[in-house]
Amino acid sequence: MQTKGYAAQAANTPLAPFSFSRREIGPRDVQVAIDFCGICHSDIHFTRNEWGFTAFPAVPGHEIIGRVVATGPDVTRLKAGQRVGVGCFINSCRTCGSCGSGHENYCEKGVTMTYGSMEADGVTPTLGGYATGIVVDEHFVFTIPDNLDAAASAPLLCAGITTYTPLREAGIGKGSRVAVMGLGGLGHMGVKLAASFGAEVTVLSRSPEKEADAKKLGAHEFVLTSKPGAFDALAGRFDAVLDTISAKHDLTAAVNALKPGGTLMLVGAAAEPLEFAALPLLFAGRKISGSLVGGVPDTQAMLDHCGTHNIVSDIELITPSQINEAYERTLKGDVKYRFVIDCSQF
Ligand code: NAP
Ligand code: ZN
Ligand code: ZN
Repeated sequence: MQTKGYAAQAANTPLAPFSFSRREIGPRDVQVAIDFCGICHSDIHFTRNEWGFTAFPAVPGHEIIGRVVATGPDVTRLKAGQRVGVGCFINSCRTCGSCGSGHENYCEKGVTMTYGSMEADGVTPTLGGYATGIVVDEHFVFTIPDNLDAAASAPLLCAGITTYTPLREAGIGKGSRVAVMGLGGLGHMGVKLAASFGAEVTVLSRSPEKEADAKKLGAHEFVLTSKPGAFDALAGRFDAVLDTISAKHDLTAAVNALKPGGTLMLVGAAAEPLEFAALPLLFAGRKISGSLVGGVPDTQAMLDHCGTHNIVSDIELITPSQINEAYERTLKGDVKYRFVIDCSQF
C-alpha cells in the first residue's frame, strides 16, 4: 500500500518527504488512515541515532490517532470508520509470560516497536506514524473515547501511557506525594495523571517560566532545580519521583528527596549513562526503577481513564514542513507541551 510520510535518511540530515509501501492487510490486520501523530523526544533520539540502533531511512512516530479504513476477515473488535490509536509497539509473541500477563512491552522474544524494529518477516524495518497510514494487528490498536479531541489525544499513546503505568504500579493515589522531574511532553502528562489519581504533585524543573503552567496542569508545588540548594528542603519528602529528563543528569538529589523505601521511577531515555551516589539509596532503602511505555490492557485502561476525567495533552498542531523546526524547539524545551503533526498534510 503506497504511503506518504517524512523520514530521516541519515543521523545528521533533516527529515524530508518520503514515500514507501505498507504490507497488504492480513487476516488479523487493521488498516488505519492516520490523522495525527505526536512528536516524542524518542523520535529525536532515534532519527539522530543517539541510541545506536537506527536503520535508515527512519520514519519515526508512535503517538498515532486515525480511523479504521479496512479490516482483515478475522478482525472482531474494530470496524471501518472507528477512531483508533496506535502506540509504541505493534507486535509481540503473544505466548511468553510477559505477553500472557498483559506486559507485551516486555515480550521475552522482543517486542516489535512501531519504529526501530523488524516486522515479523525479520527483514523489513518497521516505519512509524509520520505518515498517511499504517497496518497493524488488531491486538495493538486501541479505541479512543468519543469525548476526547483527536489531535490532543495522540500524545496519550506514548507520553500518557509511559507516565500512567509507573504511577499506577507505584500505587500513587490520594495521600501520595509524587514529584515529576522535567516538564516536557511526558512530564506534563505525568502531572495531569498523578493529580487525577488524587496525589499531591510537585514539579521539579530547571525552567522558571514553566511555574504557572505547572500549577494549571494540576501541580501543587513547583521547585526550580537550577536554584542552588533547591533540593535541600525536599529531603525525604516523596513516595515516588517520576524522572522524565531526556538528557544526562545526576540522580542523587532526586533519590535523596524520596521517603524511606521510596522509588525513583526512570522513564527518560538519555543516551549517556546516568550517575548517582550509593549512600542515599542504601541508607533509606530507596529504589531506582525503569519503565517502558505500558502493556496493551494498561494502555486501554489509561485511555478510558482519560475519557472519564477529560484528560488530553496540551498540544501545538503543526504541518509536516514544520517537523524539523519542532525538533529544534523541543530540544530547547520550547513546546507547550507536545507538538502534534496534522498528517492529512503529508
Ligand atoms: P521533552 O518534551 O523534550 O521533555 C524533556 C524535559 O526534560 C524538558 O522539557 C526539560 O524539562 C527536561 N530536560 C531536558 N534536558 C534537560 C537537561 N539537560 N537537564 C535537566 N532537565 C532537562 O521530552 P519527552 O518527549 O517528554 O521525553 C522525555 C524522555 O523520555 C526522552 O528521553 C524520551 O526518549 C523518553 N521516553 C521514554 C519512554 C519510556 O517508555 N520510558 C517513552 C517516551 C519517551 P524542564 O524544562 O521542566 O526542566
Ligand atoms: Zn514516545
Ligand atoms: Zn511475548
